[in-house]
Amino acid sequence: MAKEGHKYIFVLGGVMSGVGKGVVTSSIGLLLQQKGYPVNLVKVDPYLNVDAGTMNPTEHGEVFVLRSGLETDQDMGNYERFLGRDLTNGDYMTSGMVYQSVITRERALEYGGKCVEAIPHVRDEILQRILAAADHNGSRVSVIEIGGTIGDFQNALFIEAARVLKMNHPEDVLFVMVSYLPTPGTLGEMKTKPTQTAVRDLNSYGVQPDFIIARSKDPVDEKRKEKLAIWCNVRKDRVISAPDIKSIYEAPLNFEKDKLSDALLDALNLPEKRKASLAAWKKFAVAVAHTKAPEVSIAIVGKYFDTGDFVLSDAYLSVIEAIKFSAAKLGRHAKISWINSKDLEKGGAKAVSVLQKYHGIIVPGGFGESGIEGKIKAIQFAREKKIPYFGLCYGMQLMVIEYARNVLGLKGAHTTEIRKNTEDPVVDIMLEQKKHLADNKYGGTMRLGSYPCYLRKGTMARLAYKKELVEERHRHRYEINPAYVKRLEDAGLVFSGTSPDGVLMEIAELSRTKHPFMLGTQFHPELQARPLSPHPLFTEFLRAAIARRKKR
Ligand code: GLN
Repeated sequence: MAKEGHKYIFVLGGVMSGVGKGVVTSSIGLLLQQKGYPVNLVKVDPYLNVDAGTMNPTEHGEVFVLRSGLETDQDMGNYERFLGRDLTNGDYMTSGMVYQSVITRERALEYGGKCVEAIPHVRDEILQRILAAADHNGSRVSVIEIGGTIGDFQNALFIEAARVLKMNHPEDVLFVMVSYLPTPGTLGEMKTKPTQTAVRDLNSYGVQPDFIIARSKDPVDEKRKEKLAIWCNVRKDRVISAPDIKSIYEAPLNFEKDKLSDALLDALNLPEKRKASLAAWKKFAVAVAHTKAPEVSIAIVGKYFDTGDFVLSDAYLSVIEAIKFSAAKLGRHAKISWINSKDLEKGGAKAVSVLQKYHGIIVPGGFGESGIEGKIKAIQFAREKKIPYFGLCYGMQLMVIEYARNVLGLKGAHTTEIRKNTEDPVVDIMLEQKKHLADNKYGGTMRLGSYPCYLRKGTMARLAYKKELVEERHRHRYEINPAYVKRLEDAGLVFSGTSPDGVLMEIAELSRTKHPFMLGTQFHPELQARPLSPHPLFTEFLRAAIARRKKR
């Protein structure tokens, strides 16, 4: 049963993928929220993986972990960043999840002997999930992004579910098509034809778009808006120009130039509750795109570099955004450089010395052996040369291994993820994880999601957060081996954050008297960094990086 008066906006892609459906969805969310309507944003991924946790980041981008622990698509990260709040499991759906529910029900004889089919059973499972998501957090409008492009086999059932919802609630459902208008170099003219064809494709599903978000290099002029209106059967004031922009955070401001939020409320028959106040957002969007601000240069030492620049930034999306937010807050422009840890392995001392010129170094999360010794070399260099260092998850585990090897003198120190029988397993598999691996249960079984972390008084972590207890999101199977904690601490490493019972080491740091900023977290702070509330640890790290810049 649909919630009385609840509104649904479906965002679909035409012509081609990769032109910003996610940013459109996030922007619509932000704008309606600003107008006084609570929204929830739903991502529909048509692939058969049950969640995004089993996908390689070079192929599918970063895995974004929700507070609950669900491993989702990177778009969910953008949604949370635009809305400035946490999303829930109901806000994410894959074909894998949908089919799994239907098949489980079939095995339990819940279909009463019927032949179970894509329509109605799979379609209705999709519908039921969309309706359930509407119940979260007192939401009034759901904005649902359907992954892929119109015409894909994979997403047809989702479009069909949306059509049925519209048929049953014609007043409450809108379709927004994000399309692309190419300007071929030889013509120098923006073409509307591919969009007309995409609309016709969508029509063949029985769906008519109410809005067209016209993505293009330059703004769409009146003439082309008229053309789109006539040929696509969409009101001209509902054809919204969406030219290329410097940063995605400008998108909602740009849409407002074409009065998108007013047009949406009008189409949904919702009264305007208040004027959208975008002042704070605008201030942030200007600061984050201000490339002329004094620079702070950060090196990210990682390994997901094999498939070119395009994928690279996607694999570490939240880390990049978290750096940008804190830099903008401090009035700086962050210049991020990518250092392939495998190159540091091959090139000896000289290779590592390239790191000298950066103001700060990050080793982000990761798995497996490749490039690991290069990362450890980078960490040693950062420690010895007193370059601000921030380790995220794997980056913290490797920081502890480096300390054990080079300060404690345990030359064989390693993680059992790489060397099962290492002499000194300073990083070891968590007890409950052993069984998962023995049973080949990889999907959704890591230590995932939000856990509390107690911060020790007088430490850099505590100073940064200005709190005693925080909650952060995790995604790992290994941990600092409790058997080594005392020896590491005696050698000067400080475990400034632990689980409240003191058992799990969540933050490691060196005291400020020894190093300007050397800190690693077992959790992923980048997942909770938001435009208007940057993460305190990223901000402290950047403060230290800026201080190094001034000194040099
Ligand atoms: N591979 C490490 C582990 O599983 C770190 C994971 C990560 O960096 N997210 O514990």
